[in-house]
Amino acid sequence: MIDSENRINELNTCIQHHVDDVSTWLKSCELRVSSNCGCGVFATRDIEPNELLFGDKPLILGPTGNKMDTIVCVMCYERIGHDVTSHLCSNRCGLVLCGESACAERHKNECELLQNWKPKNPNELSFTRLKAMLIIRSLILNVEHKKFLGLMQKNYTSWTNEIYFDKEFDNFPRDKETVAVIRDASAAINANAFMILYRSDNCGDVNVRSFYPIMSLINHNCVPNARHDIDSEFVNRIFAARPIKKGEQIFISYAQILWGTPSRRMFTAISKQFQCTCERCADPTEKSTYLSAIRCVDKSCNGMVLPLELSFKTEGKCNVCGKICDNKRLLQTQDMSAAITKNFLNQNFTISDLKHFMEGRLYKLVPECNQFVVEAKLKAIWKCDGMSFEDLSSIKGFCEDILRIMDKLGLGECSLKGYLAHRLFKIRQQLKIFPESSSSHGDHDQAVSEIDTFLNDDDQLWKTAKIILGNSSAAPTDINRE
Ligand SMILES: [Zn+2]
Ligand SMILES: [Zn+2]
Ligand SMILES: [Zn+2]
Ligand SMILES: [Zn+2]
Repeated sequence: MIDSENRINELNTCIQHHVDDVSTWLKSCELRVSSNCGCGVFATRDIEPNELLFGDKPLILGPTGNKMDTIVCVMCYERIGHDVTSHLCSNRCGLVLCGESACAERHKNECELLQNWKPKNPNELSFTRLKAMLIIRSLILNVEHKKFLGLMQKNYTSWTNEIYFDKEFDNFPRDKETVAVIRDASAAINANAFMILYRSDNCGDVNVRSFYPIMSLINHNCVPNARHDIDSEFVNRIFAARPIKKGEQIFISYAQILWGTPSRRMFTAISKQFQCTCERCADPTEKSTYLSAIRCVDKSCNGMVLPLELSFKTEGKCNVCGKICDNKRLLQTQDMSAAITKNFLNQNFTISDLKHFMEGRLYKLVPECNQFVVEAKLKAIWKCDGMSFEDLSSIKGFCEDILRIMDKLGLGECSLKGYLAHRLFKIRQQLKIFPESSSSHGDHDQAVSEIDTFLNDDDQLWKTAKIILGNSSAAPTDINRE
């Protein structure tokens, strides 16, 4: 307990130094010892949905180093055109720069460090070196930021950040001290850094890897009460997604919110070394969404198999005939559904291909409410080209289905709700220009529940999208156009 309290005191000092606007943080949040997770962030007042809790700056920022991602300047993250070689740093550190003098100036410190290490092949772009940027930058942080990094949770088991510095540099310092510093920094980065979508426009997405220290102190829940987004200055803004009472802990979700329970728990077990036991995880129906249900072992039965216990070794039981599905079969069906869905979504598909896939293959393994069906629908929702009236109507249905699931889960004003509200609004506008649309007036059926009213009200959809996505750097362009 004493240790946690000491750590909290030290973290509080680091936070004061780190944030630009400490008053926003102090007005709404504080660090406290939390029962199972060391420390957590708690509300110091009642907070309304969509209220800003605080803005967190990156402690370290860097390129992703993924070969699939757009190549960007390592300082300003502007895209580099086709001729990458001509944008390699003239000091032969082996990194890519846009050519602006401001970027070259800010790059000086790390450039000197890298020159000392003598990069092998400085005239070639190395993705490994780009991947190592967060670790390299952790070595040139100021004293206060180094202290902040030292207080962060660490993950020494993951291999994702193990960079073979020896292979990249001729003169890499091999002394014990440097190696230990790099190992600690790497473990903190492993546990806390994540990829952010910084911008999304006609030229494709720009992904950046970032380490937000205050946000890293927020614990996980599968029905989080907060959401976050990145503004154009890389500030990570944390907003309330649901009403939060004074004294309540603030939560975000580390896993995808529409994954089923086994997928979310497997993800946090591997990436964060813990297994969630929140209310949603403890409810096999996941608030009656049945996201992780599979079909009954008895082909003639229309029931759904749900896990009996919250364990990766659990058996499942059909909710209609009561037949047991053993653990092996349960896991195999989940893996198989995941694999065929991933395979299908990786190809170029039309909406009618998708329907064939779902009806012909996926629904043989899982019911229509399953997470992989949701995943497939989500992917289809962002398709834009060559949509027929029928395609658009299907996508409208997909948006509605998913918004209903999110409503059942109680996810509140989360980011995905903003994106889906925006998409649904757009699709509804597009559908209105088709001559067929006048004859199909499904829209004006008696809307009874709150969610029905929402799904059929263009003003509400647009307003929701605007409130949730406003000023987010990855928002659709018409959201921030005034
Ligand atoms: Zn630049
Ligand atoms: Zn350089
Ligand atoms: Zn959970
Ligand atoms: Zn059954």
